[in-house]
Amino acid sequence: MSFFEINYSKINAWLYCPYLYQFSYIEKKYPPRNPPSSLGTSIHRALKRYAMENPDLEGLLSAYEESWENSGYETPQLMMEYYRKGARMLENFWISERERESRILAAEKDFEFILGDLAVRGTIDRIDKKKDGKIELIEYKTGESEKYAQEIYESLQLDIYALALKKAMNLEVYSVSFWLMAFNEKIEIPYDYSRFEATEKFLIKTGSEIKNLIFDRKGDCEFCQISSLCRYSEKKKI
Ligand code: SF4
Repeated sequence: MSFFEINYSKINAWLYCPYLYQFSYIEKKYPPRNPPSSLGTSIHRALKRYAMENPDLEGLLSAYEESWENSGYETPQLMMEYYRKGARMLENFWISERERESRILAAEKDFEFILGDLAVRGTIDRIDKKKDGKIELIEYKTGESEKYAQEIYESLQLDIYALALKKAMNLEVYSVSFWLMAFNEKIEIPYDYSRFEATEKFLIKTGSEIKNLIFDRKGDCEFCQISSLCRYSEKKKI
């Protein structure tokens, strides 16, 4: 039996607009990088090294420098501005981590589980085991949106990853967290297990729509990341 592969990024693109999914995952013309996405990549790479090597602050900043993604910046000045912003985030992160009482079980952990005819794949930023043995699932966020505090309660990404911990790794997640790097703050909430069934149903329904390529709507072209490249865009040309 062959399985149709989905992951959070594909679902996210599809939910925004089927044509964004088509552009990225069928035509394989990935959206161009911009400063926030490049900074996010650089920081995630450095944090992976942090989890593996447990470096001191100097080591973490060296890992950041070596991990730097320099595409997506229009000028060297803008790149330096973002570089310094990321270094500040990592310094604050490193200081906060000195107080950590949990143990890092895994970082950038790939998973796959089967759901009907779907193969659900992804990568979890970090899994911690607390002092009392409970499992915490952590996603790093490098954006500056203040909406994360509300979004964590309805995060599809965390729902999928909590399901993956159970189905692919047989781990019972106790809590889910967004680590907001730009605010030097970790928001942690207990995971609500009653969401499992709804998440499975949602994945099966959305996976079927993606598989059957039902193009019956468009996203908001005004704010779409590929509006200047998309032949279906309705964004007004200036
Ligand atoms: S520009 Fe509009 S039609 Fe094209 S992918 Fe974006 S939202 Fe969809």
